[in-house]
Amino acid sequence: MSLNLIHGPPNSGRAGLIRRRFEDALDRDPVLVVPTLDDVYRFERELCEGGASLGGATMTFGGLFRALATSGGTPPAAELTPAQRLRAISVAIAERRERLGPLRRSAARPGFALAFALLLDELQAAGLEPAAVEAGAGTLEGSAYLNDLATLFAGYAAVRDRLGRTDSHGVAGRAIELLRDGGARWRRPVFLYGLDDLTPNQLALIRALAEATEVTVALSCEEDNAALAARASLLERLREIGVPEETRTEADLANTTNPLLFHLERGFGSAEPDRRQPGEGLSILRSAGERGEAEAIGAEVARLIAGGAEPGEIAIALRDPERRGPLVASVLESYGVAVALEAELPVAGTAVGGTLLALLAATAEGGTAADLLRFLRGPSGLPRGQVDWFERALRRRRVRTAAAGLELWRERNEELPHDLTRIEEAVNGAPGELATMVAWLAVTMASRPLRGERDGPAPGRGDGLELRAAAAISAALAELTDPIELAPGPGELAATIEGVRFRAWSGPVEGRVRIASPYALRAARFDHVFVGSLQDGEFPRRDRGGDPFLSDSQRESLGLAPRHDVDAEERYLFHACLALPRERLFLSYRDSDENGVAEPRSPLLDDVLRLLEPPPGEEVPDPVETSIVRGRDLAQIVHPVAEAPSEHELARAIAARGAVADTAALLAVAGVDEPVAGRIAARIEIARTAEAASRAPGPLANPAVTGAMEAVPAYGGTTLEGFDLCSYRWFVSHELRPKPLDPAPDPLVQGGLMHAVLDRLYTERPGGDPLPRPDSLPAWIERGRELVAETAAAGGLGNHPAERAMVRRVEGLLARFLAEESRRDSGFEPWLLEAGFGEEEDLERPALEVDGWRLHGAIDRVDRDAAGRTLVVDYKLANTVTARGKLEEEAKLQLQLYLIAVAEQWGADPVGGLYHPLRGTSARRPRGFALDEAAEQLASFGLASTDLVDREGFEELLADARRRAGEIVARMRRGDIRRDPGPRRGLRGHGVCPPFCDFAPICRRDRAPVEPDDEEGENR
Ligand code: SF4
Repeated sequence: MSLNLIHGPPNSGRAGLIRRRFEDALDRDPVLVVPTLDDVYRFERELCEGGASLGGATMTFGGLFRALATSGGTPPAAELTPAQRLRAISVAIAERRERLGPLRRSAARPGFALAFALLLDELQAAGLEPAAVEAGAGTLEGSAYLNDLATLFAGYAAVRDRLGRTDSHGVAGRAIELLRDGGARWRRPVFLYGLDDLTPNQLALIRALAEATEVTVALSCEEDNAALAARASLLERLREIGVPEETRTEADLANTTNPLLFHLERGFGSAEPDRRQPGEGLSILRSAGERGEAEAIGAEVARLIAGGAEPGEIAIALRDPERRGPLVASVLESYGVAVALEAELPVAGTAVGGTLLALLAATAEGGTAADLLRFLRGPSGLPRGQVDWFERALRRRRVRTAAAGLELWRERNEELPHDLTRIEEAVNGAPGELATMVAWLAVTMASRPLRGERDGPAPGRGDGLELRAAAAISAALAELTDPIELAPGPGELAATIEGVRFRAWSGPVEGRVRIASPYALRAARFDHVFVGSLQDGEFPRRDRGGDPFLSDSQRESLGLAPRHDVDAEERYLFHACLALPRERLFLSYRDSDENGVAEPRSPLLDDVLRLLEPPPGEEVPDPVETSIVRGRDLAQIVHPVAEAPSEHELARAIAARGAVADTAALLAVAGVDEPVAGRIAARIEIARTAEAASRAPGPLANPAVTGAMEAVPAYGGTTLEGFDLCSYRWFVSHELRPKPLDPAPDPLVQGGLMHAVLDRLYTERPGGDPLPRPDSLPAWIERGRELVAETAAAGGLGNHPAERAMVRRVEGLLARFLAEESRRDSGFEPWLLEAGFGEEEDLERPALEVDGWRLHGAIDRVDRDAAGRTLVVDYKLANTVTARGKLEEEAKLQLQLYLIAVAEQWGADPVGGLYHPLRGTSARRPRGFALDEAAEQLASFGLASTDLVDREGFEELLADARRRAGEIVARMRRGDIRRDPGPRRGLRGHGVCPPFCDFAPICRRDRAPVEPDDEEGENR
């Protein structure tokens, strides 16, 4: 019996050679071992290409271990599934945590069980037992730490044995033992292909097998090839077993159809490589942002398929398919390309997994309102509208905990969501009941959209992932209820689900573009290969600090293989990618992220460019690179029309040309015929109509609407100012009135509170003075504090810490204002408070007739002096207030109009109108305007000289306000609504949206200032 080695570089015909030897041995029932299940299917297909192939089997290494372990006639104990094994590790950690030393704290952290499981895999794959690790702890540095690892290892073994189970490593050990004892009775020849890395157990098995039968190992290895250096030691370890026959294969151009690709694979890693002219077989894709890269790859794949390529002959190699694969897969699927994403994804990242975790968090102690909302927003079976209104209630009441959220739900609905009730009941049920219920819920949630329940649209592309995730959760939890000892309790279930991963694609890969890691693809060949995400730090990966548990010396002392040299491993993997394609190779990288921040490309790309001729010279950019790079910039949000990879993308590409583009001509450029051309033309037409309507909204044309606008009986000053600030903003806030989601902004609530308290305070006059005076100030402040508390309580404020803070802030602002007021001595005293005029009968005065329209309002305060002259005061809860010179610029009208109202409705003689800043810190001075003849009397207000005006200017100011208000009313009545933020042209801020306006998603105006020429028909 013997061990035969076949080794050589890629493209040297090893696969063909081993297949021929396997076929020659068919009469002896040979076994072919390959790395992955997909390789099993592929080899079986290839073996059957010439017709049925009888005898022989293809399997993975795990399959070989199992076949050998059962070959003695007595099958090993039942194996723990991956979910059971992880749970058994968690049980062991919980049981032994109190005995741990340095690892005790880490062992309580989420994710520890998963990390420890990886170490355990390595220890067991090296044939180590707990006792060996414990013995090693006595002789090694950091022995307390290793003792902890030995304790946990022993704990796991105890749990596993208590359950009467074994694990895959136990099966491997039994297989090796049977072979060594001669109990396996195994004579079938074994061939191994594509396995470039072997664990100690696998090597031990090969050693034992070689004693019993003929074993042939085909390796990708070339002794003087630096790119394959990472695998050189494997060849040596195999030779140590004793190799009577070695076959060295040589690279042969006949094994690939493209000489350039052969050259790249042969030259990569060479210290002084030959150069060769670039050609058809190599392209570099340069993109901006992850989506841009996925779309660039997708477009090339679609083009290849349109050109006749078989999807199954296209592969996309990603160093990290778990992270990058889902986006690439979803883009390809949206182009109508079938894909097989070979990646293990965490169920926690799916809608079903995330919703279940949120549900468990919401029902657990310490659950938050955000957890509850995440559950309700998932496939919970509840109508979206109901959840929207509930979210609004949560936010407006500032609810933070899940318990308070559930109380609020009960207030608004008859019963709790059924899923939540089910979980609450199961938590108190027998062991395993909760896991069974969550398993059932996973499947129920994933299938709700399929059954047309009310939680969203019918399933579309990508929903297959949800079903697979649900199946993985359900299967894992079902496995954990038998044996029942593994059933996770309420506190452990979430961590268990977080550890569940599922294969994004688990069916046959025939007819599908494969997206996988270089490890998964390296045993195969494809016509066309993409290597994506070639970024520095990703491919090649940066060394992440090595083993999280063991130092290099600890590994060595325990007999574990040294960690891979990261750099050599990454170069080996990239070399494997270069060896994959027969016809075309696409190397793809991103030069920036979605925000335009530069991202460095992989140095491996430069290594490829070093193989091309001519070498870089003075010329920038390098002409060789320019000739093979296809760039896609951040601004390129659609594909060129002639290159659009799908009907939808073609429609987008044409739409992006704007309203004036000739659709028919562009469709002709794309070479699209009926009925697709007709469908796209119709879509473009609809989109253009909608776009035109939303780009330039208004004027309002519906007679019912304009009729209603004309019939408004009276207008308030705030309304007019709002319209002046931006007519569209006014229309949305005043007429459409969208319901706010969040509580009213603090300044608004504080302002309301302050106004109400000041009104009552000045009406009550504590201490008998009409204004606070130095002597009566304490009484005013004391009463003010009481009124703040009373008014806040009446308004339902004070339950939340933020509200209590707000109330205290108002108390402080009020005290400061009263103190200021007590120091003034102007002769003016409050005369009217909250003086209302308008249509309602209970108001002091009727609405004011102004040039064909009427004004209504409520004036905060009007003061009067002994001579009957009046001063209008408007409280503003702001840091700064508007000066006279900026009244128009800041769309201020109300103060001037109130002066007119005071004069005409109350027959008073106003000398000025002042905005009083209640929140100002350094700028406490009231602003506005006043007659210069009253300056001396108003000296204690500290007015700015620029706010003083002579009688003529005073009258002009009021007349100007009357004119502006009249124009605004006329526009309102015409329904003249436009996106026209800021004052008229020529004043500062014209065309600029105020920073506080959050209606841009409704009005759809770009927030940057827009020149009138850019917005047709929107000149003011
Ligand atoms: S975002 Fe600008 S244009 Fe739109 S409503 Fe607000 S202020 Fe007006």
